[in-house]
Amino acid sequence: MAIKLYSLGAAEEVTGSKHILEVDGYKYLIDCGAFQGKREEADKKNRDFHVPADELQAVILTHGHYDHCGLMPLLAKHGFEGNIYATPASRDIANLIMMDSARIQNRDREYLSKQAAKRGEHFKWTPLFDEEDVVNTVNQFVTVSYHRPILIGPNVELEFFDAGHILGSAMVVFTIKKDDGSVKKVAFTGDLGRPNKPIIKDPEVIPAVDYLVMESTYGNRKHESTDDALKILADKTKELIKQKGKMIIPAFAIERTQELVYYFHLLITKGIIPEVPIYVDSPMAVNATSVFQVHPECYDLEIHDQFLAHHQNPFGFNSLRLVTSVRESKELNNINGPMVIISAGGMCEFGRITHHLANNIEDPTTKIMLVGFMAANTLGRRLQNHEPEVKILGEWFKVRAEIMQINAFSAHADYVESRAWLDSLDTSKLKGIFLVHGEPDAQEHLIKYLGEKDYKPVDVIRYGKEYVLD
Ligand SMILES: [Zn+2]
Repeated sequence: MAIKLYSLGAAEEVTGSKHILEVDGYKYLIDCGAFQGKREEADKKNRDFHVPADELQAVILTHGHYDHCGLMPLLAKHGFEGNIYATPASRDIANLIMMDSARIQNRDREYLSKQAAKRGEHFKWTPLFDEEDVVNTVNQFVTVSYHRPILIGPNVELEFFDAGHILGSAMVVFTIKKDDGSVKKVAFTGDLGRPNKPIIKDPEVIPAVDYLVMESTYGNRKHESTDDALKILADKTKELIKQKGKMIIPAFAIERTQELVYYFHLLITKGIIPEVPIYVDSPMAVNATSVFQVHPECYDLEIHDQFLAHHQNPFGFNSLRLVTSVRESKELNNINGPMVIISAGGMCEFGRITHHLANNIEDPTTKIMLVGFMAANTLGRRLQNHEPEVKILGEWFKVRAEIMQINAFSAHADYVESRAWLDSLDTSKLKGIFLVHGEPDAQEHLIKYLGEKDYKPVDVIRYGKEYVLD
């Protein structure tokens, strides 16, 4: 019985996760994510869809991030009729993300084709998928909770373990029964999370496996601790209240926004900061928060002790206001501080955050808190670099606001945390570790660091190359 492994995305790069495990000729696709990056290049890579959709036995989703689920709606269009296995929370997050993408793509198309028509040009670009494709995909999902092993094909069983990355994120352990009665186990970490993240559980210990396919995004980085982050957040909020200013936090709608809401709730409940109005201004973030509310099975012990045990809702409290309409969003401009505004997008390039920045950046009582990764050439990166003047929505503004940065919110394990997680496992029968989802520099560093503890052989998966797991 042959067991093979190959990758069609996230091999020596960090987006577009698509890995295939083949057992006795049956193909299992682990994640079907979209490539992200420069618009044209990403569009081309996403359109060249190499996955043999009509030959797949089943699809498994590790978590709902776009670079893991973004191309799922193409599977049915290419002939896949089987099941997509995911945890219930991952199904819901993926549903939101895929639907949001369909809407944006189709609105972009409408807008750009109108613009082209005005110029007398023919506009050719078509969206990758639409809302109906997403509905069809969601109908293929079969949700499986953590620790509920299930048979997904001849001699192949799947079990999900918490990856501690985002709500619902899972590591997948495949148990393969061989003809001679022996058993082989192959695990995929998906994106590996970190211990002590708020809301969700720590990455779990998985059973002893023969092969491990592991992510390596931060194979050469070490993160700050979350305790320091909480202290900075508390100190700066107290300052803000005294100055009656506005704190503006650009954040991704899923996970980061809920973590911030949770932290503020925690600081208020513990009496560390006084009540202060907190506005979540993003329709997507408001929808995502309701997904968090209906999945308490994903919460960690801390959230249970702090909130559930006292019959409180961690994502709903007196000073929290959820803003969805454009009118309410604009009104925030006329309300005096102190207040905290958490808004999307995360890198300050698009969305309502741009308006809040434009309206407040020249006011010295404003605090802009950067909490995520800011890619090169984004407004977020310019703020991070403390540029004295920045262009927002086509106009120049002097940066008089205080710019602050917290780097502790990453959802990916750094190299120390990755090795510590490996140390917690029974690795007695581990024959190989394959690295995916990382840039070459990060992978090289991680291999060296794992090698110090004799984790070998560690291989970097190359795009399309077949690896035989015997
Ligand atoms: Zn992820």
